Amino acid sequence: MFGLPNRAYDLSPELEFVGLKGVWVRNPLMEVVWFKRDLRTFDHAPLTNAAAAGEVLALYVVEPDYWLLPDTSARQWLFIKDCLNSLRSELEALGLSLTIRVGDMVAVLEALHNERGICQLHSHQETGNMWTFKRDKAVKHWCVDRGIRWREERQNGVIRGLKSRDDWSKRWDEFMSRPKIVPPKMILPADAMPSDRIPDPEELCTNSLACNEIQPGGRPAGFKLLESFLMGRGASYQKGMSSPNTAFSSCSRLSTHLSYGTLSIREVFQASMGRVKKLKESGAVRQGEWLKSLGAFQSRLHWHCHFIQKLESAPQFEVENAHPSYIGIRSESAPKKDHIEAWINGRTGFPFIDACMRALRSAGWINFRARAMLQSFASYHLWIHWRFSGVLLAQLFTDYEPGIHWNQVQMQSGTTGVNLARIYNPVKQGRDQDPNGEFVKRWIPELKRLPNELIHEPWLMTAMEQKLHGCVIGKNYPTPIVDHIKAAQEARAKIYQVRKTRGWIESRDAILEKHGSRKGKS
Ligand SMILES: Cc1cc2nc3c(=O)[nH]c(=O)nc-3n(C[C@H](O)[C@H](O)[C@H](O)COP(=O)(O)OP(=O)(O)OC[C@H]3O[C@@H](n4cnc5c(N)ncnc54)[C@H](O)[C@@H]3O)c2cc1C
Repeated sequence: MFGLPNRAYDLSPELEFVGLKGVWVRNPLMEVVWFKRDLRTFDHAPLTNAAAAGEVLALYVVEPDYWLLPDTSARQWLFIKDCLNSLRSELEALGLSLTIRVGDMVAVLEALHNERGICQLHSHQETGNMWTFKRDKAVKHWCVDRGIRWREERQNGVIRGLKSRDDWSKRWDEFMSRPKIVPPKMILPADAMPSDRIPDPEELCTNSLACNEIQPGGRPAGFKLLESFLMGRGASYQKGMSSPNTAFSSCSRLSTHLSYGTLSIREVFQASMGRVKKLKESGAVRQGEWLKSLGAFQSRLHWHCHFIQKLESAPQFEVENAHPSYIGIRSESAPKKDHIEAWINGRTGFPFIDACMRALRSAGWINFRARAMLQSFASYHLWIHWRFSGVLLAQLFTDYEPGIHWNQVQMQSGTTGVNLARIYNPVKQGRDQDPNGEFVKRWIPELKRLPNELIHEPWLMTAMEQKLHGCVIGKNYPTPIVDHIKAAQEARAKIYQVRKTRGWIESRDAILEKHGSRKGKS
C-alpha cells in the first residue's frame, strides 16, 4: 500500500492524487510564474506561492505588439533587458532558469500548456495602460476556458475593486508594514523549456529614441541607488529636488526601479523607515534636514500608489478627460506640427523649457518640477491636447508608469477639475531654478556666451548684443514660438470658463469622492 502524504504538512509538489487509479504520482503540470513589472525574486508573493504549490516555470513574455505602442520606446526596453539578465541570475541562485518567450501572451500560454501543461498561473496584479488592461482580460478568459487558476497578488498599495477611498491610506500603511516575503532557498524547477533570445531594441521597438546616459537596470543597480540615497544623497533631497542642477543627484532616481519592480516599494519604504529610526537614535549631524527629506520621500512613495490607484479604478483616464466638462476644449485632431516638433525637440525659443527637454531626451529622466513645467507648457501655452504631448513624454521617460503618468499629465493640463490650474511661467522657472543659467548653458551651447541677465530671455538681446554673444536669434537659436504671457492669459481664461458651465461642480464632487485623497491632497 502507498502511504498517503498529509497535505497539511507535506507541501511536496512531487505527488498528486490521480483519481481513478487511486495512486500518488508526480504532478506533471507546471506552476507558471509570469514576471511582468516585478523583475525580482525578493518580496515576490507569486514566486513564493508557486514554489509552495509545485514545479515552477519562471516566464517572461516579450510582447512585440506592446512595443509598437506610441507610449513605449527603446530606452524602456533597454532598462528591462538589464533587469531580465539580473533576474536570470537571481533565479539561477534559487535553482530556476528564466524562460523567455517572444509573442502574444495568450498564444504563449496556449503553447506552453500544450507542450507541458499548466497547473496555475501566478503573477502580480498590474495597473498598466489600456493595452495591458485588455491583454490581461484576454489572459483571464483563456485561463477560465482552460480551467486554469490565475492567482494575482498585490505588489503595492493599489487595491483592485476598491469600493471607497475612505480607509485607503490606512490600508496602504498596513501593506507597507507587513513583513517582506523571502523566497525559499531552493525552488523545484519544472522541466526545462525552450527559451527565446532577448531581442535587441532595434528588433523590437518602433521608437528608437537613443539615450546617451541610459540608466542601468537590474536589482544590484537599484540597490546601489537606494543605498547611496539613504546613506548620502538623500540629505539634500528636499532642498535639491526642484532645480535640475541638483535634482539629478538629490532625488532618489528610484522611479525606474519601482516601475519595473526590481525593488519592491515595500522594501524601499521599510529601508527608509529603518534609516529614520537609525538617524533618530544616533542624533546624526544634519539630523533635521535628513528627517524632513525622508519624510518628503516617504510621502512620494505614498503618492506613487495614490496615482496608480486612480488609473486602476478608472482606466479611461489614459485617454479621456477625467472631468467631462473639459471634453472638447482642446482639439483632438493633430496639433500644429511646428509647435509640437519645437517642443519635443527642445527648440521652442524658451531656454529653460528647451534645456529641460534636451536633458530629458538625453538622460531618460528629469525631475518632477521640470516634467510638470514641460507638460504645462504644451497644454497651456501651446494649447495642445494632452494625449499628443503625454504620449511623446511617455516615450522619453525610462520610468514610464501609466498610472502616475496619465494622472499627472491631466493634472498639469487642468482637466482633472480637482486641482487648481498651474501654469508655469518658463522665464520665472528658469530664474528660480537656474539663476546662473548653468543648466541652460550645459544643454543649449548656442547660449553659452550670454550673460546671466539675458540667459532666460535671449530674445531681448539687441542686434549688437546678439553679435557680441555669438547667438543670432532666429538663426542660432529659435525665436520664441509663442508670446508666453499672452498665451498663458488666454489659457487661464479658457480653463476657468469651464468652471462656470452647468454640472461642473457635481462632476468635480463625484471625482473627489471616488479618487480624492482623504488627506486633502489629490
Ligand atoms: C507630467 C508628469 C509625468 C510623470 N510621469 C511619471 C512616470 O511615468 N513615472 C513615474 O514614476 N513618475 C512620473 N512622474 C512623477 C515624478 O516626476 C517622478 O516619479 C519622479 O520625478 C521620479 O524621480 P525619483 O525616482 O528620483 O523620485 P523621488 O522624488 O525620489 O520620489 C520617490 C518615488 O516616489 C514616486 N513619486 C515621486 N514623485 C511623485 C509624484 N509626483 N507622483 C507620484 N509618484 C511620485 C516615484 O515612484 C519616485 O520614484 C510624472 C510627473 C509629471 C509631472
